[in-house]
Amino acid sequence: MKECTSAISKLFEYLDQELDIKDTETFERHIELCRNCFDRFDFEKALRERVKNSNTGAEPSEACKVRIQNILKKFDS
Ligand SMILES: [Zn+2]
Repeated sequence: MKECTSAISKLFEYLDQELDIKDTETFERHIELCRNCFDRFDFEKALRERVKNSNTGAEPSEACKVRIQNILKKFDS
């Protein structure tokens, strides 16, 4: 339980790559073994990636959709 608390407290620093090597290893080892913390980590990571993608605007969803449609058209013919 104490390990979970300390893992979760490092989660955001881990995502920001602000942990030193030792803490990174401790964190990674813990989420490999702990399903609860892995789920939490996975959720935060996905959330963060979604926010990052919507902020940059480098890949507007409309352009992305068109590209996917074009790829699908190739497979249709
Ligand atoms: Zn845990």
